Amino acid sequence: MDFLDRLTKAFELTERNFDSIDIERAIFLSYHCDLADCKFCYMSTIKTGPKKGLRSLESLFAEAFLVKMANWKVEFLSSGYGVYDTKKIADIVKGVACITGEPVWLNTGILEKEELSFFGEELKGITASIETFTEELFQKLCPSKSWNKMMDFLDIADELGYKKGITIILGIGEKKEGLVNLFEIIKNYKIDRVTFYSLNPHKGTIFEGSVPPASLYYIDVVSETRLMFPKLEIITGIWSDRINLAGPLLMAGSNGITKFSWQKFYGSKLGKSLNSEIKEFEKISKRRFYGSMTDISLLQTKLEFPREPLYKNEAVEKEILKKSDQIKERIESYISEIKKSN
Ligand code: SF4
Repeated sequence: MDFLDRLTKAFELTERNFDSIDIERAIFLSYHCDLADCKFCYMSTIKTGPKKGLRSLESLFAEAFLVKMANWKVEFLSSGYGVYDTKKIADIVKGVACITGEPVWLNTGILEKEELSFFGEELKGITASIETFTEELFQKLCPSKSWNKMMDFLDIADELGYKKGITIILGIGEKKEGLVNLFEIIKNYKIDRVTFYSLNPHKGTIFEGSVPPASLYYIDVVSETRLMFPKLEIITGIWSDRINLAGPLLMAGSNGITKFSWQKFYGSKLGKSLNSEIKEFEKISKRRFYGSMTDISLLQTKLEFPREPLYKNEAVEKEILKKSDQIKERIESYISEIKKSN
C-alpha cells in the first residue's frame, strides 16, 4: 500500500472507531530529574540542586481545575525520576482524579509492584517512556534507564489490571524499518495508548543542531500505527511552531493533540490557530472536539467537582476544599498569565 492509500485507510479506521478529538495536557509535577542524562531531554541541560523545581499541590490542583473547565483531558501526570515518594504521588493522583472526575494516567518513571499497590481505582494506567523503536537506540540515548525494567513494568501493570502506555519521540535516530519492532511491543505488551512526539532540538543537547523530523514522516508513522492497531489510542505532540500539523495528524489516525504550553495557547493567536486546524478537520470528519481553545469566560476562580464523575472520593474532595483559598489564588494567577499572553 502506498503512502496515500495508507493515509486514507488510517483515516477511515479512525472514523469508524472513535467519536472525539481530544486536547490533552500533561501536568508536570516537577522540573527535576535525578537521572538527567537522556540525550534529547531538556532536563539534562538544567543544573538544579537536589529536588528543586517541585510544584505545590495548590498549583497542580489549580491546573487540573483549569484543564477541566476548558474540557481538555489530563494526558498524564508527569515528572522526572526520583522526585516524589510513591505515597505522595498517590495523594496527587487522587486529588487530580477527583477534580477531573476520571482516573488518571501516570508518567513518573518505573514503579515497583509494591509501589503500584499504593494506588486504587484513581489510577487508570501507567506509561513506560521507551522513547524509540529499539532497545539498542534506547540504551544509547537513555544510559541510566533500563529497557528490561521498562518491559517488566508493563507486565506488572498488566498483572494488576492497569492500562499501559508508551511514549515515542520521532527524529532521534530511529530507522523507519524499526517500526516493526515497535508494533511487536504494542502487540506483545497489550499497549492501550501510544504518545508520539517529534524531536524538539534543545540547546545544550547533542540534538542542538538537528532538525525535527519531516511532517510527512511523522504522519506516515502515525498512519502505519493506526493501520496495525485500529483501536489503539494514539496521541500526538506538536510544538507551537508546528500547529499546522494538527489537521494532518488527526487525518492520519491521531486521537488527540498534546505538548504545548497551555498558558501560551489558550485564547491566544496560537490557540485560535489550533482551533482553526480542528474546525477545518471537523468538516471532513465525524469526530468532534468538545472543549475550547479560546473561550476565556470558561476559566473561573471557583472550585467545582464533576456532577457525574467516573471517580469520586469525598474525603479527598474535603481536603482539596480546605486549600480552596490557595488554589483559587493559583487559578487567578494562571488566568491572568493567559490574559496577558492574549
Ligand atoms: S528520565 Fe525523563 S526527565 Fe529524566 S532525563 Fe530522561 S527523559 Fe529527561
